[in-house]
Amino acid sequence: KSYIAATDRYGHMVYNRSGKSGVLLPAISLGLWHNFGFVDNIHNAREVLRCAFDLGITHFDLANNYGPPFGSAEENFGTIFKADFKPYRDELFIASKAGYDMWPGPYGNFGSRKYLIASLDQSLKRMGLDYVDIFYHHRPDPDTPLEETMGALADIVRQGKALYVGISNYQPEETQQAADILKRLNVPFILHQARYSMLDRWVEDGLLSTLEQNGVGCIAFSPLAQGMLTDKYLNGIPKDSRAAKDFTYLDVETVHSNLEKVKQLSSIAQQRGQKLSQMAIAWILRQPQVASVLIGASSARQLIENVQSIDNLEFSPEELKQIETIIS
Ligand code: NDP
Repeated sequence: KSYIAATDRYGHMVYNRSGKSGVLLPAISLGLWHNFGFVDNIHNAREVLRCAFDLGITHFDLANNYGPPFGSAEENFGTIFKADFKPYRDELFIASKAGYDMWPGPYGNFGSRKYLIASLDQSLKRMGLDYVDIFYHHRPDPDTPLEETMGALADIVRQGKALYVGISNYQPEETQQAADILKRLNVPFILHQARYSMLDRWVEDGLLSTLEQNGVGCIAFSPLAQGMLTDKYLNGIPKDSRAAKDFTYLDVETVHSNLEKVKQLSSIAQQRGQKLSQMAIAWILRQPQVASVLIGASSARQLIENVQSIDNLEFSPEELKQIETIIS
């Protein structure tokens, strides 16, 4: 059936400015790392994307290697985009990245100009897009001069293949160096994509302040710690959960080792009249540098639940203290 976006799609979502840029991002964005590859059900993927846009989620996050297999999330996205979202292209903010292993040989990984430019060309083809809204270098490359990697991002913008650029997984000092180079090159560097959740707070140790000083926004990925910060693992490992899947970066031991904390956090969420997933998202959004929280969802139901987090974004000092005691 053909798709017509909900007419009230901008009625509920909150939009935050990314750093000092002109770009507003939905407080909650959707990532396609899992659940969108050829191994997944494309009908479900389509339903999740439609549901997201109907809820005001204008930002979809992809990367060259999302799948599995590599490239298949972009290809599936391209198929769905063509069928459903083409008329809405200018209402969407679409991201891709390169930096991890993508194709064999010396030119399919890390941060060379050779890799980045070829990879984005491939991504655009797979998605059927003329340009992406933002293109990221996915992780720092210790061996390629930063000038080369940032220079490639600059040329990608000049070629019209990306409107803005970002970096991901860079430490504070590397981030400052990248910001200096991009400023010199006059390139709109607007986002740093970093892992941030109640169970992983490394960004609080220098990254958020570096971003603030440079007028760059943060988009926080894995805010639910890949599903651990929900109620799903409270009574064991469900068969269809990420921890139980074949292609996964979430192991059962990690789930078990965090369970005690998760139980305590869940009861605080309950006192707030929220699900743990909703509290986990709200807790990240309280940081002024965070423009958006980048979630994953294996169903439209999860997505709807997660978006409801914006109904209660306030924390009392007492709640923050209780949370702090559990997670620190
Ligand atoms: P989350 O921490 O949001 O985990 C998402 C997973 O948690 C879902 O797929 C689902 O897994 C489970 N879940 C979500 N909502 C609920 C709910 N309400 N109740 C129960 N379970 C729920 O984020 P991701 O780890 O998926 O990362 C999000 C995005 O961030 C990625 O898609 C990608 O775009 C980006 N990312 C970027 C990285 C980078 O290096 N730049 C690295 C990793 C991610 P289940 O299958 O168990 O249902």
